[in-house]
Amino acid sequence: MSQFLETKIEFLKGVGPIKGELLKKELNIFTFGDLLSFYPFRYVDRTKFQKVKEVNAEMPYVQLRGKIKHIEMVGKMRAQRLIVHLMDDSGIMELVWFQGAKWWLQKLKLGQEYIVFGRITDFHGKLNMAHPEIEEVSEENTKLASSMQPVYSSTEKLKTKGLDSKGIERLQKTLVPQIKGKLEETLSQKIISQYKLISREEAQLNIHLPKSPELLSRAEFRLKFEELFFIQLKLLKLKLIRQKNYKGFVFPKVGELFNDFYNKHLPFPLTGAQKRVLKEIRTDIGSSKQMNRLLQGDVGSGKTIVALMTMLLALDNGFQACIIAPTEILANQHFESISQLLANMNVNAALLTGSSKTAYRKKLHEKLESGEINILIGTHALLEDKVVFKNLGITVIDEQHKFGVAQRAQLWKKSKGGVPHVLVMTATPIPRTLAMTLYGDLDISVIDEMPPGRKPIATHHRFDSQRLRVFGFMKEQIKLGRQIYVVYPLIEESKKLDLKNLMDGYESISRAFPMPEYQISIVHGQMKAVDKDFEMQRFVKKQTQIMVATTVIEVGVNVPNASVMVIENAERFGLSQLHQLRGRVGRGADQSFCLLLTSYKLSQDAKIRIDTMCRTNDGFEIAEVDLRLRGHGDLSGTQQSGVVDLKLADLAKDQQILLAARNCAVDILDKDPELSNIENILIKDQLNFLNKVKTNWSRIS
Ligand code: ADP
Ligand code: MG
Repeated sequence: MSQFLETKIEFLKGVGPIKGELLKKELNIFTFGDLLSFYPFRYVDRTKFQKVKEVNAEMPYVQLRGKIKHIEMVGKMRAQRLIVHLMDDSGIMELVWFQGAKWWLQKLKLGQEYIVFGRITDFHGKLNMAHPEIEEVSEENTKLASSMQPVYSSTEKLKTKGLDSKGIERLQKTLVPQIKGKLEETLSQKIISQYKLISREEAQLNIHLPKSPELLSRAEFRLKFEELFFIQLKLLKLKLIRQKNYKGFVFPKVGELFNDFYNKHLPFPLTGAQKRVLKEIRTDIGSSKQMNRLLQGDVGSGKTIVALMTMLLALDNGFQACIIAPTEILANQHFESISQLLANMNVNAALLTGSSKTAYRKKLHEKLESGEINILIGTHALLEDKVVFKNLGITVIDEQHKFGVAQRAQLWKKSKGGVPHVLVMTATPIPRTLAMTLYGDLDISVIDEMPPGRKPIATHHRFDSQRLRVFGFMKEQIKLGRQIYVVYPLIEESKKLDLKNLMDGYESISRAFPMPEYQISIVHGQMKAVDKDFEMQRFVKKQTQIMVATTVIEVGVNVPNASVMVIENAERFGLSQLHQLRGRVGRGADQSFCLLLTSYKLSQDAKIRIDTMCRTNDGFEIAEVDLRLRGHGDLSGTQQSGVVDLKLADLAKDQQILLAARNCAVDILDKDPELSNIENILIKDQLNFLNKVKTNWSRIS
């Protein structure tokens, strides 16, 4: 069977060498199996047509039927494009081709009736369709059109070779019927009946060529379940293997340091969530298993104290501990706050960063190896081979997403005679489904409760035209003794413009807030580190009241007196980034504010982002919305360490299926960790197959 799936794509009828090459290059489709798992991304009712007059740019797709009334090439050289007017009985729609314009010029016929399908764009108030799918109206395509026509994504290059969505559908129609009787099951009979799944074969048939809406939804369920199940199975197996191969240090004792701290030095009662998480951690490290735990909690939820108390448990059991932060600023902050918390205790904490001097390092290395230093706080500098502990028992990693799996592995070499426990903390809450997929091999703890007495940050949306009012508000706050951040976007693609924007903004603020009454700091990525630091320090020391900055402050200083965050061009920031930025204020006792400035023109998504920010302070809720808006691919690719590559399942929508699949995987591994039972043989085969495919990079050449 797998031979059939491994058949090279050029051998499929209707493909051949040229299209075969293109399919490989453009869509990564090398084999029959690849094509089979190239799923439609939606289904449309192709028996229905809209009228030109009724359509708008908010519709996901439209299908029109009309005659071509006008064809024209405009522009020169690379700016050349083909403009076509399609007319139905309600109006005219402009169709545009930027790529392959010459090819389409030859192909399209004036006066002929066509069906076009695609997305509408609003170009300065004028609607058009760029690169639509287009085909002549004929007996065949009007009669055969089904109400659930699959839509496949394609590329411009493929389209000019006839492989638009319709073209790919034709290939599927050739391939899919051939799978009958050839597609082996990948799941056990038990799972299939337990979850009432249709067979793999029937699912593949119906996902491409649905026979009915009901079968389509069962096909989707089956394939999504399968996809998520094998991901979870793989992650959980990883975890099992790790548990088997690495015994953790056992910390049975809750000793003097922990109790002393808890009873005498804790500056506030712990929240219920903090207590619960500490219990989860204690259970882990009190057993013989090596802890690998992800601690999620919103900005300000109090993760540091949990980390510190976990480290004290290690110390109580005769071990050392360390904490790694992604930047020097953060490492310094951790060192300061932890030193403060430990001020009256007999614990030796030290700091190690890239700027630690050689002489200091030398001594530090000695004290680490002798065990004189109990807690080491630092940046990645801590990972260097020269840094050797006497007996490292636990490592805390702050801000997981800047820290790769490889670096985590490096840590394990730091301890002799065992593997230290690992506690990973993230400040960016991510939805449960995404966490389960990205960090499915870790145990997960969540701090979902803020310390009492926090006033939620009041967030408001203001338009650029209301800037004077915003300045007025800023002056009031400064009079009350508060400090203010004003943040500008700066992205790589439009760096020059953004920088100019920032400098213009700085100037206008300087005019509105003149010296000597007001002092302003400015910090951006183009500045030298020393200058940045100098400006930051001026703000920290309250010598300046306003800090104008780019997003460099995102993971930056902790200034409790700063209580206002003004975000310029807020529509250009992603949702979780806005939330991170807002987290810079609301750290003191005063009521804090976040003002989101935007232009009048906002896309649908931008409106949702801004509204969400104004509505809630809950990082988990915000992360859910972000996932729905951007999709897991984007979220995982840009922000987190891993990338989730799912063909069909959607982590925003398929939470229930994911939970079922994970439970199912847990269940099976509980009873049969090696997958050696006869009833699980198909599952084992498929898992091996998937592992093989993943590592076989030779295909990509
Ligand atoms: P984060 O989770 O962002 O790392 P921190 O650990 O820095 O948050 O805590 C934020 C602030 O809240 C700190 O000033 C800390 O002292 C305070 N804090 C933490 N836990 C509590 C609590 N249970 N009650 C009151 N304040 C707390
Ligand atoms: Mg923190």
